[in-house]
Amino acid sequence: MFASTKLVIMRNVNMLLFAYSYLFSKIFQKIKVYNLPLAIHIETSSKCNLSCLFCDRGQGNIDRPAAIMTFTDFQQIITKLPKSIYWITLYFQGEPLLDKTIIEKIKYLRANNYFVEISTNAQNINNEMATALVESGINRIIISMDGISQKTYEKYRINGKINFVFEAINNLLESKKKLNKKNPKIIIQYVVFKHNESEINQFKKMMKKLDVTIRIKNAQLEDDAIDYLPNNKKYRRYKINNDKLQLNKSLPKPCYRLWKEIIVLQNGQIAICCQDKNGELINEPWHNKTIKQIWSSKELNAIRQKTLIGDNLEICKNCDI
Ligand code: SF4
Ligand code: SF4
Repeated sequence: MFASTKLVIMRNVNMLLFAYSYLFSKIFQKIKVYNLPLAIHIETSSKCNLSCLFCDRGQGNIDRPAAIMTFTDFQQIITKLPKSIYWITLYFQGEPLLDKTIIEKIKYLRANNYFVEISTNAQNINNEMATALVESGINRIIISMDGISQKTYEKYRINGKINFVFEAINNLLESKKKLNKKNPKIIIQYVVFKHNESEINQFKKMMKKLDVTIRIKNAQLEDDAIDYLPNNKKYRRYKINNDKLQLNKSLPKPCYRLWKEIIVLQNGQIAICCQDKNGELINEPWHNKTIKQIWSSKELNAIRQKTLIGDNLEICKNCDI
């Protein structure tokens, strides 16, 4: 499963072009995009089994139906991807493991030399699923675990069971050991709110004993959820200004993500970045145009230009880039 030398060279050149294009645009204040995307998110599932508190999918604020991408559609997307892409995330607004063809999809990508990751709520990684994931060759699995007690965990992960998350971690680690595999790397992600910040230290202690990496992340909130801001300021994404939430840090000008990656939604629409949850900013489904055409379209360049002059989009107000 090694990428050919030609493919490696092509991807490395594209990486250099990414750096060059971004820096050129920043320094000379003129949008230039000589590179193709480095990475792509594909929303293979827009269904979810949880109803997380501030998630648009969990709260029913996503316009497209909750559905699974067929293997045929998925394969068509992959065959049309620019060869420059090396990193594929099979996750956006939904739970990827509700997709019965997810293992087949991962194996297909690995056989085609992509780095593959998923992010999951880990509610259904039993022994069988853990073995299938490890055998699939997937490179990285991000597991959400925002608390260590059921009482704390379920405040955000509504309908979630913390013991399933513990079992999932255990099953994955056991399968890796049994199959003698280094992959997947397991990242346990903890999104910090006021209600779970008291469990962070215990969480860190527990995870330290395991072969996992932890990622502590600040929460995305709206103005009506100020009460959920953690007390510890280091875990806050926002400051409070006249009862409104305002990002703590300024955003890069222009936004480098728009030179790096793109998202294909379950219904075939394109999203420009992970804050464009309904794919509203580019009006082209992948069936009509190739990713390459959308990437260098006037529409996407106009959005790049907006972030260059600091005329931020509505979606940028919550961005944690
Ligand atoms: S598990 Fe993920 S997609 Fe599902 S509701 Fe929660 S945050 Fe949203
Ligand atoms: S929300 Fe704005 S700043 Fe964040 S990645 Fe998207 S375009 Fe860039």
